[in-house]
Amino acid sequence: ALYNQVQDLKGSIRVYCRVRPFLPWQSNSQSTVDYIGENGTIMIVNPLKQGKDARRVFTFNKVFRTNVTQEHIYADTQPLVRSVLDGYNACIFAYGQTGSGKTYTMSGPDLTTEETWGVNYRALRDLFQMSKARVDIVRYEVAVQMIEIYNEQVRDLLVSDGSNRRLDIRNKSQLNGLNVPDASLVPVTCTQDVLELMKIGQKNRAVGATALNERSSRSHSVLTVHIYGKELATGSILRGCLHLVDLAGSERVDKSEAVGERLKEAQHINRSLSALGDVISALAQKSTHVPYRNSKLTQVLQDSLGGAAKTMMFVHINPELNALGETISTLKFAERVA
Ligand code: ADP
Ligand code: MG
Repeated sequence: ALYNQVQDLKGSIRVYCRVRPFLPWQSNSQSTVDYIGENGTIMIVNPLKQGKDARRVFTFNKVFRTNVTQEHIYADTQPLVRSVLDGYNACIFAYGQTGSGKTYTMSGPDLTTEETWGVNYRALRDLFQMSKARVDIVRYEVAVQMIEIYNEQVRDLLVSDGSNRRLDIRNKSQLNGLNVPDASLVPVTCTQDVLELMKIGQKNRAVGATALNERSSRSHSVLTVHIYGKELATGSILRGCLHLVDLAGSERVDKSEAVGERLKEAQHINRSLSALGDVISALAQKSTHVPYRNSKLTQVLQDSLGGAAKTMMFVHINPELNALGETISTLKFAERVA
């Protein structure tokens, strides 16, 4: 039954669009979202233009309204997450400009209530529940890694001593399915374990951040869940892995204004997001050459993009008028990979 669900995810990637609601202090603001259709369409309007140039429609697998719950957002992700227990690899991405709701979708605004938990915790909760339900058939072990990619350098976010050293990416086949073998690999048995680890990760991520430069929006964070299962009857081993990726903010930085570190960061981010777009669209077009080598991000995720692996991308829209330019480029990016 599970296998069938996996087959039902047509194509290698699904693209879902989520529109962030206006925040409480913005309640009277004008929205650039004209309407959201039932069939995965979204119409963007530029209120400063007239006629047919003012409107533009984009189509995805689904477009969520601003009032959807975290549970609703996660619902379609479940089959993909479950396929990981059958030994598949999968990636879930959050894409969008800073402030559009990526972290809200992946982590959630408040971890103290399960109701607002994001995709990360819901996915892990599902994996734990499902693996327990199968305990008489397969004995599972779950372990996580958490890294960030900042300026094309990979760093371990789960180090306890704050050392945060640079890590190498290896060819996965050599090392028990780990492509960043030197990043801490921590066994977990319940979502509480994961919540504790996320706190360490957040703390390490703040290292090096300054007031002007909020690190979390300038780096990609990758939470990887490794599943190792032993089938009791046959002794055969299965491995699956799930990458949960909160991408760096996709906003273009004005080259005439950004200098020094800020410019370097912006260039690294632009390059790695376009490398990701190139890989996904090459896969979608069944191209014979998939350019994985062009960024650290795509190298880390290589074994989980393409082949039998499943990919999902949540693209995020900020409905404010002053975000219109970024909204259009986000939707164009999403359309290219869909
Ligand atoms: P990003 O990670 O893309 O920079 P955040 O997830 O931090 O954006 O969201 C920016 C702000 O908007 C936060 O205050 C967050 O709580 C709020 N927010 C984002 N998405 C939603 C949503 N779906 N519902 C309510 N508030 C949201
Ligand atoms: Mg964020």
